[in-house]
Amino acid sequence: MCGISAYASGNRASYSRAIGRTLSLLIELQHRGQESVGIGVASVSGDIKVVKKGSLVLSLYEEVLGNSNIKEREVFGCIAHTRYSTSGRYGWELAHPELVSGGRLKLAIAFNGNIANYRDLFALARSLAPEYTPSYVENDTQALAYAVYALAKDEGWDVVEALKRLPEYVIGAYSLVALTSEPRLLVARDPRGIRPLAYSYVDKEVYVASETAALQVLDLDWREVRAGEILSFDGSALEVTDSVVAPDPSPCVFEYVYFSRPDSYFNGVSVYLSRLKMGWYLAREAPAEADVVVPVPDSGRIAAIGYSMASGIPLAEGIIVNKYVGRVFISAPDQRDVLSRIKYGVVRPVVEGKRVVVVDDSIVRGTTMRFLLDKLRRGGATKLYVRIASPPFTCPCYMGIDVASRRELLLWSKTSVEEVGRSLGTDSLAYISLRNLELSVGLPKVCHGCFSCSYPFSELRAFDLEKKISR
Ligand code: SF4
Repeated sequence: MCGISAYASGNRASYSRAIGRTLSLLIELQHRGQESVGIGVASVSGDIKVVKKGSLVLSLYEEVLGNSNIKEREVFGCIAHTRYSTSGRYGWELAHPELVSGGRLKLAIAFNGNIANYRDLFALARSLAPEYTPSYVENDTQALAYAVYALAKDEGWDVVEALKRLPEYVIGAYSLVALTSEPRLLVARDPRGIRPLAYSYVDKEVYVASETAALQVLDLDWREVRAGEILSFDGSALEVTDSVVAPDPSPCVFEYVYFSRPDSYFNGVSVYLSRLKMGWYLAREAPAEADVVVPVPDSGRIAAIGYSMASGIPLAEGIIVNKYVGRVFISAPDQRDVLSRIKYGVVRPVVEGKRVVVVDDSIVRGTTMRFLLDKLRRGGATKLYVRIASPPFTCPCYMGIDVASRRELLLWSKTSVEEVGRSLGTDSLAYISLRNLELSVGLPKVCHGCFSCSYPFSELRAFDLEKKISR
């Protein structure tokens, strides 16, 4: 997924204001990526500097504020990115923004999403602008940056025209921010609007963030970027145009289930209320004779409240999360096992001698749930009924989460939900139905490919997409 933020001003912002505003937004998006962080800073004169670090956002903030190479200048704007890698290797070197130069412009891009056919984009860049394109790229971010740069060259160095054409070539999802040396800030969301993006425009200042909650925290009035929309800000006016591909919104339903903050809105739908409804529907279709409902914090909590409200079974915090561990699901693969073991503690008085309904948002790899159930059993729970606020995760995602192969999924090696339940150590396991998940969100159309193997790119099936993924 990843988090992106941006800030640009027509008022010649001070360095500390531009950095502070951009990274304040990004701190509110830390839950979307925790591997590495980067920022691009464009001066009023059009110079662009990029700083990257393998750390959380706050650490970069301290570093760039003291960076004498890029401060002391009047700043036009900044773009920033916190990475959860879904393409290419792990490591801070592949943090965004990606900077491309050589022609009439400099261009820095950061994006949230995943481009399944990035090798096709790279081939496009090589064909349109071989003089500015390297002989290989490591991931989709680099391919995207070189493709936009090549398309811009093809359009007489007009980046808006380049972004209008981009969807013709992309299989995947992107919500992106870009800075040019003109200087100009560009913001774009793919025509399917798979990943979120929102902005605020006030007093010749533009603020952009992956989620509305980040803008809300800074007391900014916000609007979501529509699917297929392109914003361009040169310091004097904000222009809004559409891509040449017609919008066909199919936002990621997993944003509602897990990714997004509960205080965010996505496509006008409150993430909090959608999760509450998921829990409510789940209780109706998968009741349990139990003494207490215990959420798996943090992402299972709101569905658990809904389950408790609908079932009348009291809710109690029987599991305590160590927040300093971060989100295990988006951590590097070699860290997941150890983080899963140490992430949770059990509140014995809540579960001892009780029949417990454990509510979580999803089971993808099963790593965390297995350790957790064992701890609850050792904490004295007599029964463990696991209820999941999303359907069985049966297919990989090619649009922005790091499950690119079916073999990574818990259900891959199991023939039934009952078998999954037994392998995890449950007394019973049940999931919300896809129909009730859709009703919880309430939009006419969403992407639910990871639950149905049906993706918004109808021309390609899972097998074809899997072949295009690099890892
Ligand atoms: S496949 Fe799943 S995780 Fe990926 S975009 Fe679609 S709903 Fe979201």
